[in-house]
Amino acid sequence: MQLFFHDVGLKGATADFPKTIYSDIAISDIVAQCPIELRASISESLLNEFPDGWCNVWGVPLGAKSVINQLTYNDVMLLIKSTGGLEEIPVLCHVKLFPKEQLLELSKFLWGSTHFPYIFFFKTQDIDLNWTQFKSDVDYLPKFRPSGNVYRVKSERLLRFGGASGYVKTLIKKEPISLPPLPLSLKESEIDEEYNEGSRETREATFFKRNRKLVLDAKKTYGYNCQICDFNFEETYGELGFEFIECHHINPLSERDFDLPTTIEDVLVVCSNCHKMLHKTRPALHPLQLKSLLFKK
Ligand SMILES: [Zn+2]
Ligand SMILES: [Zn+2]
Repeated sequence: MQLFFHDVGLKGATADFPKTIYSDIAISDIVAQCPIELRASISESLLNEFPDGWCNVWGVPLGAKSVINQLTYNDVMLLIKSTGGLEEIPVLCHVKLFPKEQLLELSKFLWGSTHFPYIFFFKTQDIDLNWTQFKSDVDYLPKFRPSGNVYRVKSERLLRFGGASGYVKTLIKKEPISLPPLPLSLKESEIDEEYNEGSRETREATFFKRNRKLVLDAKKTYGYNCQICDFNFEETYGELGFEFIECHHINPLSERDFDLPTTIEDVLVVCSNCHKMLHKTRPALHPLQLKSLLFKK
């Protein structure tokens, strides 16, 4: 599964949401607007995927051709309503058919113009996501603006979710999956900071000292923004903070034995505050747990 997103908000294209995202379209109507030579195959595929005869539809402009051509069956497209103001990403499209041909007549029929000829079919799934959260999830720079385009999210950016499908699962369930429950030790009386945290952090620091290459690889891959809260030392401290960030070891199996093989997937770059908070509990908090606390404000 690959993850794509379309920044729809520009020029109020979200006015089209009610037409084909929040309204079902009859497959017979869709097929009637397709080029004759494609009708049989499109009809068969759609009825196979949507036996009730209805589905939702979205189209992207000609300019998106090179990106959208990578879209295939079972990929997921997120529709960003706006990257300013409300910043909502309210819709997830789990793609069940993308013919890759320009469907000009269908575009005109559905949205009143031929401007969205690359059209795909799905059943709309509502999700609870916003642009700021999404950028942080996939480690885009805070200032990144998609400017009305279509993008594919590189799979490396979704590693810690277990790939695109893992990330999509967290979106649909509206809660992080496969997370251990918050440790009981969050309760104040059970935190034994002095001893436990001290030793865990010391062992972790020793581990990273012995594995400089891992540290360098992690920084090269993840950059210098905290993967929990997006804090960037250089933005706050100027030159002094240039390329400063801490590394945190995620794998709880390694809490006891840091000599277990480690890849950068086991490592997170974090600011010093988030790092302290991760180690506030024993075992350490899972990064997504800390993140969920952070965004509860
Ligand atoms: Zn942080
Ligand atoms: Zn750590």
